[in-house]
Amino acid sequence: MSASGMERWSIAEITRRIAAGEVTAAQITEDALARIEKIDGELDAFLAVDAAGARSAAAGVDLLRTAGVALGPLAGVPIALKDMIVTKGVATTAGSKILEGWIPPYDATVVDRLKAAGAVILGKVNCDEFGMGSSTERSAYKPTKNPWDATRVPGGSSGGSSAAVAAALCTASLGTDTGGSIRQPAAFCGVVGIKPTYGRVSRWGIVAFASSLDQVGPLARSVADAAAVLQVIAGHDAHDSTSLVKDVPDFAAAITGDVKGLRVGLPKEYFAGELDAEVRASLDATIAALKDGGAELVEVSLPHTELALPAYYIVAPAEASSNLARYDGIRYGTRAEASDLLELYMKTRGAGFGPEVKRRIMLGTYALRSGYYDAYYKKAQQIRALIKRDFDEAFAKTDVLLTPTTPTPAFEFGAKSNPLEMYLGDIFTLACNLAGLPGMSVPCGFTAGGLPIGAQLLGKPLDEAVLFRTGAVIESAAALGDRRPALGGAA
Ligand code: GLN
Repeated sequence: MSASGMERWSIAEITRRIAAGEVTAAQITEDALARIEKIDGELDAFLAVDAAGARSAAAGVDLLRTAGVALGPLAGVPIALKDMIVTKGVATTAGSKILEGWIPPYDATVVDRLKAAGAVILGKVNCDEFGMGSSTERSAYKPTKNPWDATRVPGGSSGGSSAAVAAALCTASLGTDTGGSIRQPAAFCGVVGIKPTYGRVSRWGIVAFASSLDQVGPLARSVADAAAVLQVIAGHDAHDSTSLVKDVPDFAAAITGDVKGLRVGLPKEYFAGELDAEVRASLDATIAALKDGGAELVEVSLPHTELALPAYYIVAPAEASSNLARYDGIRYGTRAEASDLLELYMKTRGAGFGPEVKRRIMLGTYALRSGYYDAYYKKAQQIRALIKRDFDEAFAKTDVLLTPTTPTPAFEFGAKSNPLEMYLGDIFTLACNLAGLPGMSVPCGFTAGGLPIGAQLLGKPLDEAVLFRTGAVIESAAALGDRRPALGGAA
């Protein structure tokens, strides 16, 4: 661990100091690699560390600087990638045994963009298998610990991404979010996580889970850092037909420090029922802070909220069952010994997929069976339209919505052995994906026991800017900057 505290420098500080010649990208990279070496044995966030790739990227940045060439916006910034993101020459498993040993021949568009901006990719971080889960307990390799309390989960499925950022093993990371997998782990680990608008960020080279819901986005220790990373990865990509041809605004400029006149909607369905008392108290304090800052608070209703969970658990498994058909033992990863083709498929998939993935494939295949499509998938799509309409109506009167990210703080390992219980923890994050909206989780407090609590902001399509604007005000009001996790927090 470095005495200088460089592991917790912001992106602005790293890039400024490198440009000024106060530190080299190589020093920052060595510091991060040493921290991974020292802390990750206990944290278990990384599945693959690419020390050689990181060192060579850092050397490239330092060379450009000494040559006087202008540096990219993320020059020398250490970044970790969820293992759902394809990386050229670096093993990519999606947390599954079925992809064990697969070395992709290309980089995802987001990886290309990070590299072009000068980022130093440290390696790949853990996740629930194919993004299916909320705790990293469904990773085929290992569970990742929550840096604030090692007996608790870091959230999921991007739990390696949230834990690595919270423990300062990297400055920022990328995750993927199909039903909450960036925002929920961000909330559990006390970091900022943003799921961009559907189509804002290219998914070329992202392992597909549910194609009408999946998005990639950053996790970081501050709103400004998350904005800096999204700035680099957002924007149209001809390789992804769902990527939107839309200009990307200047996200840093959206961070004005002010919410005067902003209409913040409070959806009543998200504050009812089984909300944990400490989560509620933290949200109340956040609401009060926004009010003090001059925001106008508006109660709104999203009446179809309770249908989000059942609709998601038709749409996501149905699309997953189709996307995962490609893992047949022929094209990627592991292949079982077999005497004919059917046996090869059955043995490879039987041994390669974990129980949660098999459950989803069976649910999805059932829902798409001939004669069942109208009763399940089509019905779920109709519910989706109603959910979208609820949001349209709420946004007619408001600029942004505020909710808790999760009903409870991080839970203990093994606490949710029943799949339905696990699914219920995503109740506040799923609707955002069904409606294609941008969503952010920003730390807003701690429990008495020292566990982070997250506030969720939801914006209109393509209005990530309002999330950064509002999130930055919540972040500064909560003033949690000095708190350090047990794992990776010591100076
Ligand atoms: N936890 C949810 C699921 O298991 C969401 C996962 C995700 O966003 N990738 O489907």
